[in-house]
Amino acid sequence: MIPGAPDRTRMSDDCIFCSIVAGDIPARTVYETDDVLAFLDANPLARGHTLVIPKSHARHVGDLGSELASAVFDAVAELTPRIQEAVDADAANVGINDGEAAGQEIPHVHAHVVPRFEGDGGSPIHAVAGRRPDLSDEELDAVADEIADATGA
Ligand code: AMP
Ligand code: ZN
Repeated sequence: MIPGAPDRTRMSDDCIFCSIVAGDIPARTVYETDDVLAFLDANPLARGHTLVIPKSHARHVGDLGSELASAVFDAVAELTPRIQEAVDADAANVGINDGEAAGQEIPHVHAHVVPRFEGDGGSPIHAVAGRRPDLSDEELDAVADEIADATGA
């Protein structure tokens, strides 16, 4: 492979974010490592709204290996305060829409870093879900057991 050339073996052909990684479509890149790219969201929710993506194509967070997951989160942790500082924000929401039912439109993992400003009229991340379920203590115990079983805890 030519040094510096995009590794197309890690790309999905019809993925916009893979095309950005490959340099085939433009983006306002703000940060880059061997494994991670961060660029401004083209339709920002706030000044400085940034997307942090793995350079390799992965649809869901669960598809990231531990190395890539760490690389993405390291970048998010490093960038979030820098983005806030750059746009003089008071706080930030960090989130991933993981799957269509959660609002994921681009099927390539991306963490949104959305700077927040006092009095901006926005909501906390709790606002993303639908109606809150009314769960009894027994139901909460059962849910905890189901998840613990699924995670092998
Ligand atoms: P999601 O709903 O989590 O999949 O979010 C996709 C995000 O990607 C949206 O906030 C879009 O504004 C953003 N987006 C879509 N196409 C581009 C692009 N070419 N460059 C930058 N951001 C994009
Ligand atoms: Zn992709």
